[in-house]
Amino acid sequence: MTFTNSPIQEVIFNNQKYFIKRDDLLHQDFSGNKARKFYYFLKNDFPNIKKVISHGSAQSNAMYSLSVLCKLKGWEFDYYVDHIASFLKENPIGNYKFALKNGMNIIENQIPEIFAKDELFINEGGALKEASFGIELLAKEIIDWAKINDIKNLKVFLPSGTGTTALYLQQYLPFEVLTCACVGDEEYLQKQFEMLEKETFPTIIKRKKKYHFGKLYKEFYEIHNLLKEQTKIEFDLLYDSLGWIVLEDFVKNDKEKFEYLYIHQGGIIGNSSMVERYNYKYDY
Ligand SMILES: *Cc1c(COP(=O)(O)O)cnc(C)c1O
Repeated sequence: MTFTNSPIQEVIFNNQKYFIKRDDLLHQDFSGNKARKFYYFLKNDFPNIKKVISHGSAQSNAMYSLSVLCKLKGWEFDYYVDHIASFLKENPIGNYKFALKNGMNIIENQIPEIFAKDELFINEGGALKEASFGIELLAKEIIDWAKINDIKNLKVFLPSGTGTTALYLQQYLPFEVLTCACVGDEEYLQKQFEMLEKETFPTIIKRKKKYHFGKLYKEFYEIHNLLKEQTKIEFDLLYDSLGWIVLEDFVKNDKEKFEYLYIHQGGIIGNSSMVERYNYKYDY
């Protein structure tokens, strides 16, 4: 499997121009930033590996992408979670449903402390140095596009979970990378950066309000639908809704003349379970 250079598209959202890097379109099964982060494992041979072991939440985008990787590679996949909600067990949906279809063994338990020689451990959310391999390619695509289109004053934005994608993008890009914290707070995100590298960090834009990851916010659902209406692009409900709230506010107050490139990091499969929850809570 090879990746084609994902397209960059120009859109207008609430009267402001943005470019969108469509990494959600990289590949039908293996897309978004998880595909970039796991590209190293896809591209290289690991003749001694039989099984991947990872952990995290039962609805995670990383979990689904790892299930695709393991299927392609013919590896077993053991995924450890603290807990699977009973409604999810009874009514599998989204990432959970499709990862099970790909042969994932989901285990409600602590992750083992030691691994066998033929087992490959992948940290939660793909926060690992090997991720830099695929993200460097993403950076190269952006650099080439900017060159061809003679764009010099560019700021690149993407919302962060572990911060791995934003961090490595900043390492390989000559443009400023802006991000915001979605999973923890700004301090947590900064610590995540420092765990992986010691220098060149992206700029963290502070959120105006505290949000808890995975909780339902009316404004998330609303901006998601506005984006869909105006740009005809479906964005992820967990990260992108907050990302767009933060970016819009930043752009409104940015006094300098810049072009803005938003990285669409995939995650659309996870939306079905989120939409179900929104419909239930707000009766949309
Ligand atoms: C995983 C994910 C993120 C966060 O990526 P990090 O590299 O962990 O910061 C953002 N958006 C989407 C859609 C994701 O699936």
